[in-house]
Amino acid sequence: MSNVSPKQQLMIARQQLDKLSIFIAGLADFFHGTSPTIDDEFQQIKKLLSGKPDYDKATELSVGLNAKLKNESKFMQQKNADTLSQIHQSLRQLTELEAVDNQVKSEIKQFIKRLSPSETEHLSPINTFENALALFKKALSQNVVMSKHEDEAAQLVLQEQITQELRQLIAPYYKKNSKDVTLRELNQKLNEGLENKELLECCLTMIRFVMKDVLNEAASATKLINDIHRSLVKINQGISSTITKSKNRIQKREKQKKAMKAQITAMETVLSDTSDVGDLKKQTTQYLIELQNSLDMTELEERTEQEKVITLLQSMQKRLEELESQAESYKQKLLQQRIDTMTDALTKLPNRMAWDEKFKATWSQVKKQHSATYLAILDIDHFKQINDKYGHSVGDKTLQIIAGHTRKLLHKDDFLARWGGEEFAALLFDTSIDDAYKKLESLREKIAKLPFMFKGNRVSVTLSIGLSDLRRHKVSEDAFEEADKLLYEAKSNGRNQTCK
Ligand code: GH3
Ligand code: MG
Ligand code: MG
Repeated sequence: MSNVSPKQQLMIARQQLDKLSIFIAGLADFFHGTSPTIDDEFQQIKKLLSGKPDYDKATELSVGLNAKLKNESKFMQQKNADTLSQIHQSLRQLTELEAVDNQVKSEIKQFIKRLSPSETEHLSPINTFENALALFKKALSQNVVMSKHEDEAAQLVLQEQITQELRQLIAPYYKKNSKDVTLRELNQKLNEGLENKELLECCLTMIRFVMKDVLNEAASATKLINDIHRSLVKINQGISSTITKSKNRIQKREKQKKAMKAQITAMETVLSDTSDVGDLKKQTTQYLIELQNSLDMTELEERTEQEKVITLLQSMQKRLEELESQAESYKQKLLQQRIDTMTDALTKLPNRMAWDEKFKATWSQVKKQHSATYLAILDIDHFKQINDKYGHSVGDKTLQIIAGHTRKLLHKDDFLARWGGEEFAALLFDTSIDDAYKKLESLREKIAKLPFMFKGNRVSVTLSIGLSDLRRHKVSEDAFEEADKLLYEAKSNGRNQTCK
C-alpha cells in the first residue's frame, strides 16, 4: 500500500501554500510602489498568509489579487494610450507648421503611422518617454519663436539647453547602440553644436529611439504582469483541485472503512449464528475474498491518485520557480535602467533628472523640519576657452576630471549633480553657512591647484561658486535665484571664488 496518507497529502498541499505565501511576499516587495491598490491587496494577503493559512480564504484572496493584477495591466495600457495620444497631438501640430520642411514632415507622418492603436495596447509610460515629449515641445516652441525672429539671446540659451538635454538623453541609447549610424551621427552633431534647424530633426531622431526602447520595455512589463496573472490562475486551480481531491480521498477512505466494518460485523453475525463448520468456512472465505478485493482496489486507486497529486504539485512548484526567477531578472533590468536614466554619461554624476528628484525631496524635508541645508551652484570659469583652444574632447575630459575631484572633495552625504553643461549643483546637509562656505572654499582651492597640461602648457582650471541657505526662502525658485545671483557676483568679482 502507498505510504503517503491523505493527511500527508494535505500537509504537502499546505507546504505548497506556504511556498506560495513566500512567493506572494516577494511579489509584494517587487511591486511595492507601482500601484497603491496592488500594494494594499498584497499587504492584506501577506498578513493573512503569515498566520495559519486557511485554504479557502487563500484561494479566494488569490482570485482577488488576480483581478487586481488584471486591472493594473489595464491601467498601464490606459496611461500609455494617454501619453501616446499626447505625442500624437504634438506631432500633428508639427506637421501643420510652415517652418518645418517637407522631408521632416513626411518623416513625422510615417512616425505617426507607427503609433497605430494596435501598438498602443502594449505601451507603458516611462519617464524617458515623457522627457522626449517635453523636449519635443521645446523644439516646437523654439521653431515657432525662431520664425518670428524675437529675442535671439534667449533663443541661444534655449538652444544650448536643448542640445545639452538631448546629449544627456542620447547617452544611454548611444551606449547600447553605438554601432547605429544615425545615432552616431546624432551624437557627433550634438558634440559639435547644433544649427537651429538641425535641432528639430535631432529631437525627432531621438524620440524615435526612445520610442523603440520604450516599446520593448513596455512589452516586457505588460507581459510579466500577464504571466504572473496566468500563473496565479494555474496555481489556484492546482491548489483547489489538490485540496478537493484530498478531501474526497478522506471521504472515500471513511466509506471504505465503514464498508469493511460492516463486513466484519456481518462475519461476526454469521459466526455466532452458524453451527455448520463447512458452511462457516465457505462464508468466511467469501468474505475474505471480498475484503481482499476491496483492499486491492483501494491500493491501486490510491497509488494512481498519489502519482497524479505528486505530478501536479511538482509542476506547480516548477512554475513558481520560473516565475520567481523571471521576476528577479526583470527587477534587475528595471534597476539598471533607472540607474542609467539617472546618471550623466560623461561625468557619471547624478544628472538633472536625479537632481530634480533629490531636490524636491530635500526641499520638503527642509520645509517640514527646518533642517540646515545649503544649495551651491558651481560653474567652471572660462570653460568655452578650453573648448575653443584645445578642442571639445579635451573639454569633455576636463569636465570628467573636475566632476570626479569635486565629488571626492565633498562629504559622502552631500549630494552633487551635473546641473547642465559646465555647471554642477550641490546640496550640503547638517552644517552652518560658515562651515559650508569653508568647505567650498577649500574645494575650490584644491581644484585650482590640479595640474592640468594642455598641449604642453600648465593650465589652471577654476570654479566660481554661489551658495544659498534653503531655510531662508519661501519658494525653491528663490533659493536658486539667490545662488545664481551670488555665482554671478563671484564671476564679476574676478572668478575663482565663492560668494555667500
Ligand atoms: P564663465 O566663466 O562666464 O562661466 O565662462 P564659460 O566660458 O565657462 O561660460 P559659457 O556659458 O560662455 O560657456 C560654457 C561652455 O561650456 C559652452 C559649451 O559649449 C561648453 N560645454 C557645455 N557642455 C559641455 C560638454 O559636455 N562638453 C564640452 N566639451 N563642453 C561643454
Ligand atoms: Mg555656465
Ligand atoms: Mg562657466
